[in-house]
Amino acid sequence: MQSVHGGRKVAARRDHVTADLPSRARLSESSRSRFDARRHIMAFFTHHVCRGLSSSAVRNVAIKHLTVIGGGQMGAGIAQVAASTGHSVTLVDTNGEILKKAVKGIEGNLKRVAKKKFSDKPESGEEFIQKALQNVSTSTDAAAVVQGSDLVVEAIVENLKVKQDIFSGLDKLAPAHTIFASNTSSLSITDIASSTSRLDRFAGLHFFNPVPVMKLVEVIGTSATSQETLDCLLNFSKVLGKTPVSCKDTPGFIVNRLLLPYIIEAIRMYERGHGSKEDIDIAMKLGCGYPMGPLELADYVGLDTMKFIMDYWSAANPENPSFAQSESLNKLVAEGKFGKKTGEGFYKYK
Ligand code: NAD
Repeated sequence: MQSVHGGRKVAARRDHVTADLPSRARLSESSRSRFDARRHIMAFFTHHVCRGLSSSAVRNVAIKHLTVIGGGQMGAGIAQVAASTGHSVTLVDTNGEILKKAVKGIEGNLKRVAKKKFSDKPESGEEFIQKALQNVSTSTDAAAVVQGSDLVVEAIVENLKVKQDIFSGLDKLAPAHTIFASNTSSLSITDIASSTSRLDRFAGLHFFNPVPVMKLVEVIGTSATSQETLDCLLNFSKVLGKTPVSCKDTPGFIVNRLLLPYIIEAIRMYERGHGSKEDIDIAMKLGCGYPMGPLELADYVGLDTMKFIMDYWSAANPENPSFAQSESLNKLVAEGKFGKKTGEGFYKYK
């Protein structure tokens, strides 16, 4: 998915959205407000040491070592950023070849960063690269590494069952203080967390693509996530050089909840004949300073992905008009016109 943030355009992909499943355990209104009030009794912390005020196991946790599960584009990016900010990281994937490729990618990225950051001091640049690389190790066995981890960040395939299986296995092995976080963009954090017994130490940590470039991290708390856990993740995100925002476990968190309905409404305007697709795109580019218009953006994201997300959301929230079906989106997807990746969507691509 393409995110428009601070006037920049950034590529993100497929399932870059969170959905709120109907099965989510919910608190009553009064329990929620008691819970929120408790949350506001802020814990405090220094640097990346979290000092909780409650008896939570997260008390005084320093994120020194993290396990990142999934060495794809997101996992490798998270590992790179964590390693270059002085954390020890173990990157886990299903086979050595993927991990080799991930580390090669990290090295290439670090070289580019060093070239820019230390243009007049190449030896400092080399030191930066070597230090960061020394902080990265790899493994195909998450169970073996998780015992030494303060934080597990999962960035694997977008499949609820697979994510639940991973977390449920690791829950039995990880130390009590270890925080679990998912980078999911389309699944309910509550549902993923339900496979574990550490509901208070489970949250969403939603990075944006490409991770080393994008400043935002959405820190998502479920109704069971403890304030200590959230504080720890907010602080950790800052230590990574990111700007975190706090989100509830609702469809799309903040960014995608605003972005998706915006794109869909633009598609509906086009369907109603309120403007040509070109004019709608030009209007939003020149009128709002966005790097891409909404229909261009839909093609870039992939119309199949857009439909997947909207179907998912509308099934979970059938009464919400923002998630209603779009005729032209359905038609283009049925014709196999998924946008840029297939050569045609709202526009044709050579
Ligand atoms: P990807 O396909 O590039 O990488 C996923 C990696 O997970 C693969 O290398 C795969 O081998 C590995 N994997 C799968 N099952 C595994 C298992 N059981 N154990 C260990 N490794 C396993 O995917 P990605 O784009 O990096 O996305 C990962 C997660 O991040 C998804 O949940 C996605 O929704 C989310 N996300 C993606 C983006 C994006 O723009 N790509 C942005 C934000 C969030």
